[in-house]
Amino acid sequence: MARITLNNIRHSYLPNPKSDDDYALQRVHLDWDDGGAYALLGPSGCGKTTLLNIISGLLTPSEGQLLFDDQEMTSLEPDARNIAQVFQFPVIYDTMTVRENLSFPLRNRGVDEAAIATRVAEIATMLELDSMLDKKAAGLTPDNKQKISLGRGLVRDDVNVIMFDEPLTVIDPHLKWKLRSKLKELHQKVKRTMIYVTHDQTEALTFADQVVVMNFGQVLQVGTPIELFERPAHTFVGHFIGSPGMNVVPASVVDGQVQVAGQVIDTASDLTNLRQGSVEVGVRPEFVRFADAGIAGTVETVMDVGRHTVVKVRLEGIEQIINAIVDEGDSIPDGPVHLQFDAAQTRLYEDGWVVAETQG
Ligand code: ADP
Ligand code: MG
Repeated sequence: MARITLNNIRHSYLPNPKSDDDYALQRVHLDWDDGGAYALLGPSGCGKTTLLNIISGLLTPSEGQLLFDDQEMTSLEPDARNIAQVFQFPVIYDTMTVRENLSFPLRNRGVDEAAIATRVAEIATMLELDSMLDKKAAGLTPDNKQKISLGRGLVRDDVNVIMFDEPLTVIDPHLKWKLRSKLKELHQKVKRTMIYVTHDQTEALTFADQVVVMNFGQVLQVGTPIELFERPAHTFVGHFIGSPGMNVVPASVVDGQVQVAGQVIDTASDLTNLRQGSVEVGVRPEFVRFADAGIAGTVETVMDVGRHTVVKVRLEGIEQIINAIVDEGDSIPDGPVHLQFDAAQTRLYEDGWVVAETQG
């Protein structure tokens, strides 16, 4: 096992990168502790696979260092790194049986046959592959093939880290939740460092203790699911996480006061070092209330999403929709309304990044 450090990693697929835009990873600095369950969450194209491939050694970064337990790994061959990587699509030997597929990584390293048999049986049980151990992999469903792939990643106990790159892509929706909780359970059992890459917030938030949120080749925030919900460091994080995500509303600071659609509002942010001018206000739908006074708007749609209702309000004077969550049992407003934001949960964002909060 090992602690993984990414030290100012940059990567460009271009021969002569110039601007930041030429980099698939702009500058990544991360520490992953030994034994943790991590998720790397971000939209397609943001650089997740590039980052994984740098850790596993399939790719050498243009700049920066990769360290395991403070030891330089940046240009070491993949085989020398002791990493298991599970890819988006099953990587298995079709002509081998399930048992042979699962045994292969161990046999390859000269583990003795008795130990292989025990370990393979264990993994097969965890993944519910017992009944098909002697079947050829070729005839199996994509779900089961991907379970073999997962098994091949999990079977070795000498790996530093197991990385999963969107492993549930080919899995049937009704099996997804099951495998997802299985992976969480496996992490608790094996206590190995696991990095789970996905564009799906539910997968990331249910699997990981710490989530790294990326966009545009940058890490925007590292935090627990609760931290990401309560204190998004960047408007993208607030918007990407939550359903619906955080409202991001144009605002201005005039004479030390924040205004949204002409209304002065209270926020948690410290305004002392702020430029005068345009900023954004972020507030989650959970912290938007209907009141007698406040920001004026009109209810546009009402959507029942199970335990609560999402009300879309069009603000007066600016082209902006605000989502508000109304709890079950509370009355659903209609027509012209006024909105208030819970000040403690309302923050300013400048160029996308959160403004520091007032102390005390
Ligand atoms: P993700 O896994 O988050 O979807 P990737 O790491 O695959 O993102 O891609 C990051 C960026 O790098 C994208 O703009 C993608 O088009 C580009 N990219 C990925 N692989 C290559 C490659 N082999 N050659 C050139 N560009 C690539
Ligand atoms: Mg990818």
